[in-house]
Formats: sequence, C-alpha cells, structure tokens
Amino acid sequence: MLVLLGLTAGRTLDEARQPRLVSDGAPLYWGETAGGGSDGLSPGAPLYVPPATAHGGGSAQGWTQPVDAPVVSGFRTPERPGHDGVDFGAARYTPIVAAASGTVISSYCDAIDVRDGSAWGCHRDGDPNLTSGCGWHVDIIHSGQEITRYCHMVSQPLVGVGDFVTTGQELGQVGSTGNSSGPHLHFEVHVNGDPGPGGAVDPETWMSDRGAPLGGWW
Ligand SMILES: [Zn+2]
Repeated sequence: MLVLLGLTAGRTLDEARQPRLVSDGAPLYWGETAGGGSDGLSPGAPLYVPPATAHGGGSAQGWTQPVDAPVVSGFRTPERPGHDGVDFGAARYTPIVAAASGTVISSYCDAIDVRDGSAWGCHRDGDPNLTSGCGWHVDIIHSGQEITRYCHMVSQPLVGVGDFVTTGQELGQVGSTGNSSGPHLHFEVHVNGDPGPGGAVDPETWMSDRGAPLGGWW
C-alpha cells in the first residue's frame, strides 16, 4: 500500500522528504508516523518519507554516505597532497556503513610502529606520528570493480573477508586505530580494482556523481 500523507499545498516533495524530529524528539524512520509505528495512518497524519539518498536504501544508483558526519579534510588537498581519501569528523563508536553493496576483500588490523616496524596493534589508539596504517579497516569491492575503504575503526570490524554486504549495512564503528590523531573515519574510493594510490579518486566527486553527495546523512 502506498500512502502519501502530511503534504500540504505548495510544498515540494523535496521539502516533504526532509528528515524531521517530532514531539519528544524521537527520530522517525521510513514509513513511521508521528504516533509511532506504521499502523493507524489517517489522512493528514505526518509520515516520514526519506529522500533519494536515504541511509539504508541509498541513492538510485545504490550509494550512501558511510557515516553521519561532516567532511573535515578533503582528498589530496594542497596541505595534504598524499591524503588519498576524505576524513569525516565523528565521535568514537559512531556507526560506519557500507557506501554500496559489494564483497568484503579486506578486514584486519593494519597498525605498525614506525620506530622499529613492529606491530603497534589495534587494541589501543594509534598515533599520528608513531603509527602507520589504516588500523582496523574494511575494503569492499563493488560491481563496477570499485573499491571502498573504511579506516581507523574502534574495534574489529563486524564483517569479514568474503562477506557480501548491502548499501547501508553496518561495518563497524568510528575509532582512532592506526595512523590517526583522533576519532574519525578515513574513507577512500578506488577504481579499476586498484587498491593502491594509483586507483584512488576523489570520494566527494565520486559520491556526488552517484546521487549521494557527502555532507548529508539522508
Ligand atoms: Zn584521512
């Protein structure tokens, strides 16, 4: 059953699709009414309708932002020409989700003590100067041979190599393992199945071109 409620004359669908907090501030989820749940719909009742880039379903092309947070550092900026991804500023334990469906091809702790090459480990935060590596991280390969990478998770990822994940599926939570100065998500997009620097492209352009521009969760 398709129900469209809560729209008033003169409002656009995009306006109606804005996420909203109601009454006591509890968030509404897809298809819920302000009264809670999807039962008891009546004409005029507000109904939450997610936008095209909704978390979980993703854009029409099947992509979604990997974390509910703003971008705080861009791809290969003049100040950081070797920065092959973008950083989202987010609190520790914020959920990280798959930007698109695909198969997990990497899921392990990558954290090396640069002073002697020994394992730094991911049982503790990394250091921006003393630690190299992505920390607890996940790589996913997608249908177009693109690879997305999610770094510095707080603990062992929820998914392992060989797992098929769907757009919006939780992979782990934000942390500061590996080469990191504080909790954030470092996110990379690679093309042509190339996980190295040569395959990296600007995630902001990539996601925008797929209907899921960074900077908004919904
Ligand atoms: Zn980064």
